[in-house]
Amino acid sequence: MIDLKDYEFWFITGSQHLYGREILDKVKEHSKKISKGIAGAVNMPVKIVSMPVLTTADAIINLCNEANSSKKCAGLIFWMHTFSPAKMWISGLKVLKKPILHLHTQFNRDIPWENIDMEFMNLNQSAHGGREFGHIVSRMGICRKVLAGYWQEQDLLDKLSVWIRASCAYQDSHELKIARFGDNMRDVAVTEGDKVEAQIKFGYSVNGYGLGDLVKSMARITEAETDGLVLLYEQQYELSDELQRTGGKRSSLREAAKIELGMRRFLEEGGFKAFTTTFENLYGLPQLPGLAVQRLMADGYGFGAEGDWKTAALVRAMKVMASGLNGGTSFMEDYTYHLEKKNMMVLGAHMLEVCPSIAGSRPSLEIHPLAIGGKADPVRLVFDTKTGNALNASIVDMGNRFRMIVNEVEVVEPPSELKRLPVARAVWVPKPDLSTAAAAWILAGGAHHTGFSQALSSEHLEDFAEMAGIEFLSINGKTLLNDFKKEIRWNDVYYYLRK
Ligand code: MN
Repeated sequence: MIDLKDYEFWFITGSQHLYGREILDKVKEHSKKISKGIAGAVNMPVKIVSMPVLTTADAIINLCNEANSSKKCAGLIFWMHTFSPAKMWISGLKVLKKPILHLHTQFNRDIPWENIDMEFMNLNQSAHGGREFGHIVSRMGICRKVLAGYWQEQDLLDKLSVWIRASCAYQDSHELKIARFGDNMRDVAVTEGDKVEAQIKFGYSVNGYGLGDLVKSMARITEAETDGLVLLYEQQYELSDELQRTGGKRSSLREAAKIELGMRRFLEEGGFKAFTTTFENLYGLPQLPGLAVQRLMADGYGFGAEGDWKTAALVRAMKVMASGLNGGTSFMEDYTYHLEKKNMMVLGAHMLEVCPSIAGSRPSLEIHPLAIGGKADPVRLVFDTKTGNALNASIVDMGNRFRMIVNEVEVVEPPSELKRLPVARAVWVPKPDLSTAAAAWILAGGAHHTGFSQALSSEHLEDFAEMAGIEFLSINGKTLLNDFKKEIRWNDVYYYLRK
């Protein structure tokens, strides 16, 4: 469902005519080599397109306009091989709407100390050419990522890929349609927000649909389609006895399959890539959609429970960023704590809706009562999460801005088997420790709902937040509560003044 190879990133080199034909030919040759090197880098998820060397204001603005109108172009990588007088960049940068990365590198890695002459110096001018370009971008207040280092170093290429993935998600976000089945959970604050402002900032549109629309779509599902999906369930999961062919709850499994097929059809027909549900509005549905939501998320759909469209959009963005990487991404909620001194942990889960992409082993398909919602017992996948590094991310509406908060965590093995807990779950230790992380998260006003990922780093989300022009707060191994509090206060002033 998500293929980042559809996206293009344009590699653009700046120079000027002053140097003469011969040098410009060299610049062109070097530019081609670097863009080819980046295109062929390990784990490069997208297409890198080599663009002509730009030496005039006209050429620059034409290319920026072309980038804006290209559906495929998700970002531009700028490199100043030589000194490119920056006044000629102003008109182009003024209209450019796509994310920018300034690659501050040099074609030759080493200075040939014994043989260096004026010719070498004049050809390898990135050191000051990059500064001229950087000045105008800073003066114009344009957000971009600056990467400095040698273009063949894997560390630098990895950081470039991080930004590229975030840019793909940013582009996807501008084409994203989110369907809400039912409204917000009544009286809940954090899942609310300004949908109009969100569309201005992130590009996605959020619209509500009646449960009747979904029920209509379910009614069109045939028994043969249902048979086919149930067969797939049998192949992919361990079915509990009740859900087996001869089990007493087999009909509930068929109902769950119909919900999945109906939801999938509705989303496909409407071009939606993210959705929300709410257990307070299940009119016409026999059970809360658990399995359906889990499997749709595994296919790349963004999801938020209780009408939480911000988290649905975030989960979708994280799925796009993580496409093709090891490790899964899911909707998540900090559910319950283990507060034993020196061994504090969080148990994350949701009533049902956790994505099996994070499962440590083959999930089991089970049916259990749900204490909430007042419907028939819902079918759900149950599993533990793979251990290792992960993060939780949240976007909240602070009234005058959106704020993203990311907490790095380590997923651990639960101290014992959770035999009686019939939901998918993850147990983690937040960084730097639970007390600091939870206090910081709460002071920042972070939500209980998050996007959880074992594939992404904080840098992916930071790059995305910067592109969208929203606030970014990181809670990590180095976080000190004192400093974090100050950062929040300073940010308050910054966003107040920026308005
Ligand atoms: Mn919830």
